[in-house]
Amino acid sequence: MKISEQMLASHTRYKTSYSMIKGKNPGPTVFLTAGVHGNEVASIRAAEQWLKKFRQGDFVISRGKLILVPIFNMAAYKKRTRGKPDLNRTFPKSSGNTAGHPLSKDLFELAEKLRPDWYIDLHEANGLSSVNPKRLGQTLITNPGSKAIPAVRRIVSKMNGSIPDSAKHFTVRLKQKEGSGRTAASRLLHAKAITVETCWSLPLTKRIDYQSRIIHYLLEEARLIDR
Ligand SMILES: [Zn+2]
Repeated sequence: MKISEQMLASHTRYKTSYSMIKGKNPGPTVFLTAGVHGNEVASIRAAEQWLKKFRQGDFVISRGKLILVPIFNMAAYKKRTRGKPDLNRTFPKSSGNTAGHPLSKDLFELAEKLRPDWYIDLHEANGLSSVNPKRLGQTLITNPGSKAIPAVRRIVSKMNGSIPDSAKHFTVRLKQKEGSGRTAASRLLHAKAITVETCWSLPLTKRIDYQSRIIHYLLEEARLIDR
């Protein structure tokens, strides 16, 4: 396994680092991003913890490669704000359409070059989706017709099996979101693209734990790490 540190939007004030973690065998490519919204701290912490696990050798990428962006919108994270513009509306909406921000442009160009099999974007949201289906807290979202749907259903079922309070159960949501990284990766790159949303009114340690376990299951589904 080899870990190398690189930069997105390196010549701009938006620059942020990402890690490329390569397994010793060929295999799928997975993008994992957190901090597209700077105030969604549990997803950022979980991504940082996974980077640390790989650096310490607690987990090994057996095959393929992981592109891990722990804090995409660093400027927004420093202020703990969602960020303006909302970077999750700046990804290309159709082929030939360019991204509307240096960060989303750089990340999507990297994705176009590496053609990820999976594109996982970590977020947090309001509410509990199993209590109020209009809310996005505690959901895994993918696009209608996505090849990721079976994996998403398996992960939701595993997560819910370990959460005694059904109000906090995860649900599966199928939707398009124009300008989001997920929909761009699904539509333009045909990646298995998934957004993870924890509910940010739950305790931080709990949310980090949910995010971290979902990352673990996703890396297993993508076969980057062995079960
Ligand atoms: Zn978000």
